[in-house]
Amino acid sequence: MRTLLSALAATTLLTGAAQATAIYPLDRATILVSSPFDFKIELDAVHPEEEIAVTVNGKPYAETFGAKADYVAEEKGKDDAVLGSALILRDLALAEPGSYTVEVRAGDETRTVTWEVYATPAAPKARNIIFFVGDGLSVAHRTAARIMSKGMTEGKADGRLAMDDLDHMAFIGTSSTHSIATDSANTMSAYMTGHKSRVNALGVYADRTPPTQDDPKVETIAEALRRTTGKSIGVVSTAEIEDATPAAVVAHTRKRGEKADIVGMFHDIRPEVMLGGGSAYFLKSDIPGSKRKDDSDYVAMFREAGYTLATNAAELDAARGSDAERLLGLFHTGNMDTKLDRSFLHQGTVGKFPNQPGLVEMTEAALDQLSKNEEGFFLMVEGASIDKMSHPMDWDRAVIDTIEFDQAIASARAFAETHPDTLIVVTGDHTHGVSVIGTIDDDKPGDEMREKVGTYDAAGFPNYTDADGDGYPDRIDVSRRLAIFSSNFPDHYETWRPKMDGPFEPSVQNEKGEYVANEAYKDIPGAVLRVGNLPKSADTAVHAVDDVVLQATGPGAEEFKGYMEQSDVYRVLVDAFALGAPRN
Ligand SMILES: [Zn+2]
Repeated sequence: MRTLLSALAATTLLTGAAQATAIYPLDRATILVSSPFDFKIELDAVHPEEEIAVTVNGKPYAETFGAKADYVAEEKGKDDAVLGSALILRDLALAEPGSYTVEVRAGDETRTVTWEVYATPAAPKARNIIFFVGDGLSVAHRTAARIMSKGMTEGKADGRLAMDDLDHMAFIGTSSTHSIATDSANTMSAYMTGHKSRVNALGVYADRTPPTQDDPKVETIAEALRRTTGKSIGVVSTAEIEDATPAAVVAHTRKRGEKADIVGMFHDIRPEVMLGGGSAYFLKSDIPGSKRKDDSDYVAMFREAGYTLATNAAELDAARGSDAERLLGLFHTGNMDTKLDRSFLHQGTVGKFPNQPGLVEMTEAALDQLSKNEEGFFLMVEGASIDKMSHPMDWDRAVIDTIEFDQAIASARAFAETHPDTLIVVTGDHTHGVSVIGTIDDDKPGDEMREKVGTYDAAGFPNYTDADGDGYPDRIDVSRRLAIFSSNFPDHYETWRPKMDGPFEPSVQNEKGEYVANEAYKDIPGAVLRVGNLPKSADTAVHAVDDVVLQATGPGAEEFKGYMEQSDVYRVLVDAFALGAPRN
């Protein structure tokens, strides 16, 4: 027995040691043929270069890769701690499709990974792709948007969302390389590069060294389009344009927070259309409101690169009718306001930025501009506030923004009517732990608000109206409204009501740096304290690990089916565009 146990222990130890060696791209990576990526081996110990043997499909790696990797004797971590030796080969590209098994041996360290390098058909299926991301879009957002926007009678929806009629569908697994949970950086990066990565990472695998812009890069869809096509590129978001989701179209950094640098990465790619918030990172440091720490004036630099600048809805409208070559719309210094605040309640920062365009106007302006290119385009449209309002559990704002997101999809579907060679994809990047469970009915008896929560048969139907037929409820503070709750939360006061005075701020930091319930909501009639079920470091609700529902229509959409890893979505996109077509 003892020998068996020690044998088991020895095996476990050995496996442990071998597993610590890392090869990037990771095992089971799928790589677009001829797309450049960085190859890196991280060894656990320091090994002389001649002791490190690397083979690809059994042959010395340099034969297959056509180049020799740089050897780093000692990679340094925090406080100059020695992490081990490394090999790095940047901008490797594999022109032959097939299976590549990479094996490294160095002393007692060994590691094997297998990649699949894939080509695409020679002929593209689609000329254009419009990729819609509802940030944090979960099933509850869709259900709530449908009920709020269209109504329901005798259990049947009184109308359909634009996203309800997309004919292909898949469940998407969003987990990151180091955790089942995930953020908008690595999830969107998986869609836009075909490689999963770690939380906070964009366009790179997360390596072990502290610098954030030396991590092994993978090609973004924007780079692949520039490398292989003459198509135009558009990025539209209600967030800061350099926020994680839009940034993933172009960026390479381990740290999504490096927004000033990400603006530079946009400038490297120069998408033909960029519309969103986030001007603070374009302005040089001495301009009031700037969040840059350097003298780069990206507004001037984009202008010099041929961009027409719009800073409000009127200017966007004017630019739309002009013969502008490239369009840069920066409508807010930070994230744009929600539809509920922009069009109905005039709260948030609408007083300061009174004429922000909506997602529908931005999408239509982008389509006008991008469709001038005969070769076609790739357009990414993000409904960002679905997530940004789901974090603070401001469900009314999140759902109204889901309706706006859906109306932008309706615009894209109208475009596709006259441009049938357009693939439309609608998805979320990750989900939230949110559910619609019934209604809250002010007319139900009882002193406590929880007695007014209608469940099962007692839920009935909410009494929103849409007299003007704009798809938005005439008012959200109706007497029988949707009961939407989060599965996870910090300490906060549940008010059971829409937040008419501006977005909900559920928690605030106390003197110990912990997040506690925001007392500003304490005296709202009926408010009750809900003690959080998250660490006290969490200021809002967090992302869920639940699958995302992806829907699509148009040429190539039939490839979306069943369960797919988020990184596999990229393959459908590049397949539709034939970005890996065999070349002579
Ligand atoms: Zn989020």
